[in-house]
Amino acid sequence: MITACCVWLERMLLNAGESGICVVAFRDGDARQFFLQARPLTRRQARNWGVLIQSEPLKTAAGPLFRDERGRLAPLHTLMRVPIEHCPHCGRNLEKLARSQREEFDQLAVAHAALQEE
Ligand SMILES: [Zn+2]
Repeated sequence: MITACCVWLERMLLNAGESGICVVAFRDGDARQFFLQARPLTRRQARNWGVLIQSEPLKTAAGPLFRDERGRLAPLHTLMRVPIEHCPHCGRNLEKLARSQREEFDQLAVAHAALQEE
Protein backbone atom coordinates (compact mmCIF):
# COMPACT_ATOMS: atom_id res chain seq x y z
CA MET A 1 0.00 0.00 0.00
CA ILE A 2 1.20 3.45 -0.90
CA THR A 3 2.09 5.71 2.00
CA ALA A 4 -0.23 8.70 1.63
CA CYS A 5 0.77 12.26 2.50
CA CYS A 6 -2.01 12.60 5.08
CA VAL A 7 -4.94 10.77 6.67
CA TRP A 8 -7.37 12.53 4.31
CA LEU A 9 -5.72 11.07 1.19
CA GLU A 10 -5.35 7.69 2.89
CA ARG A 11 -9.12 7.58 3.53
CA MET A 12 -9.98 8.87 0.07
CA LEU A 13 -7.86 6.14 -1.55
CA LEU A 14 -9.68 3.52 0.54
CA ASN A 15 -13.05 4.86 -0.69
CA ALA A 16 -12.22 3.94 -4.31
CA GLY A 17 -15.02 1.88 -5.81
CA GLU A 18 -17.64 3.12 -3.35
CA SER A 19 -20.31 5.71 -4.05
CA GLY A 20 -19.41 9.27 -3.08
CA ILE A 21 -16.07 11.02 -3.41
CA CYS A 22 -12.73 9.25 -3.51
CA VAL A 23 -9.25 9.49 -5.00
CA VAL A 24 -8.07 6.94 -7.55
CA ALA A 25 -4.63 6.16 -8.93
CA PHE A 26 -4.32 5.86 -12.70
CA ARG A 27 -1.30 4.76 -14.71
CA ASP A 28 -0.86 5.05 -18.45
CA GLY A 29 2.64 3.90 -19.36
CA ASP A 30 5.07 6.20 -17.56
CA ALA A 31 2.31 8.68 -16.68
CA ARG A 32 1.06 8.30 -13.12
CA GLN A 33 -1.80 10.48 -11.97
CA PHE A 34 -4.24 10.81 -9.11
CA PHE A 35 -7.87 11.74 -9.82
CA LEU A 36 -10.58 13.05 -7.55
CA GLN A 37 -13.57 10.89 -8.46
CA ALA A 38 -17.26 11.30 -7.72
CA ARG A 39 -19.70 8.43 -8.11
CA PRO A 40 -23.29 9.38 -7.20
CA LEU A 41 -24.58 5.80 -7.41
CA THR A 42 -23.08 2.53 -6.24
CA ARG A 43 -21.81 0.37 -9.11
CA ARG A 44 -24.80 -1.94 -8.63
CA GLN A 45 -27.24 0.99 -8.71
CA ALA A 46 -25.61 2.33 -11.88
CA ARG A 47 -25.86 -1.07 -13.61
CA ASN A 48 -29.51 -1.47 -12.59
CA TRP A 49 -30.31 2.09 -13.60
CA GLY A 50 -28.80 1.56 -17.04
CA VAL A 51 -30.90 -1.57 -17.62
CA LEU A 52 -34.13 -0.08 -16.27
CA ILE A 53 -33.99 3.22 -18.08
CA GLN A 54 -33.09 1.63 -21.41
CA SER A 55 -35.54 -1.27 -21.33
CA GLU A 56 -38.47 0.08 -19.34
CA PRO A 57 -38.22 3.87 -19.08
CA LEU A 58 -41.97 4.31 -18.64
CA LYS A 59 -42.15 1.78 -15.83
CA THR A 60 -39.33 3.31 -13.82
CA ALA A 61 -40.74 5.43 -11.00
CA ALA A 62 -37.60 7.56 -10.94
CA GLY A 63 -37.83 8.15 -14.69
CA PRO A 64 -39.25 11.70 -14.50
CA LEU A 65 -36.23 12.80 -12.48
CA PHE A 66 -34.01 12.01 -15.42
CA ARG A 67 -36.01 13.63 -18.21
CA ASP A 68 -35.54 17.10 -19.60
CA GLU A 69 -38.30 19.72 -20.06
CA ARG A 70 -39.45 18.03 -23.29
CA GLY A 71 -39.70 14.57 -21.68
CA ARG A 72 -36.57 13.20 -23.32
CA LEU A 73 -34.19 11.07 -21.28
CA ALA A 74 -31.26 13.16 -20.13
CA PRO A 75 -27.87 11.57 -19.51
CA LEU A 76 -27.02 10.64 -15.95
CA HIS A 77 -23.35 10.87 -15.14
CA THR A 78 -22.46 7.95 -12.93
CA LEU A 79 -18.74 8.72 -12.80
CA MET A 80 -16.96 12.07 -12.74
CA ARG A 81 -13.20 12.55 -12.49
CA VAL A 82 -10.82 15.45 -12.33
CA PRO A 83 -7.03 15.12 -12.25
CA ILE A 84 -5.35 16.52 -9.15
CA GLU A 85 -1.75 17.71 -9.07
CA HIS A 86 -1.64 18.40 -5.34
CA CYS A 87 -3.38 16.87 -2.35
CA PRO A 88 -6.54 18.96 -1.78
CA HIS A 89 -6.09 18.57 1.98
CA CYS A 90 -2.39 19.10 2.72
CA GLY A 91 -1.03 20.46 -0.57
CA ARG A 92 1.61 17.77 -1.18
CA ASN A 93 2.77 17.42 -4.78
CA LEU A 94 1.14 14.14 -5.84
CA GLU A 95 3.31 13.60 -8.91
CA LYS A 96 6.34 13.50 -6.62
CA LEU A 97 4.50 11.21 -4.21
CA ALA A 98 3.68 8.78 -7.07
CA ARG A 99 7.26 8.95 -8.40
CA SER A 100 8.77 8.24 -4.97
CA GLN A 101 6.65 5.06 -4.56
CA ARG A 102 6.34 3.75 -8.12
CA GLU A 103 5.84 0.11 -7.24
CA GLU A 104 3.18 0.84 -4.61
CA PHE A 105 1.46 3.36 -6.90
CA ASP A 106 1.36 0.85 -9.76
CA GLN A 107 -0.18 -1.82 -7.53
CA LEU A 108 -2.81 0.68 -6.41
CA ALA A 109 -3.52 1.71 -10.02
CA VAL A 110 -4.08 -1.94 -10.99
CA ALA A 111 -6.46 -2.41 -8.05
CA HIS A 112 -8.35 0.79 -8.89
CA ALA A 113 -8.61 -0.14 -12.59
CA ALA A 114 -10.17 -3.48 -11.60
CA LEU A 115 -12.78 -1.61 -9.54
CA GLN A 116 -13.79 0.44 -12.60
CA GLU A 117 -14.44 -2.70 -14.65
CA GLU A 118 -16.79 -4.39 -12.19
ZN1 LIG B 1 -2.39 15.11 1.79
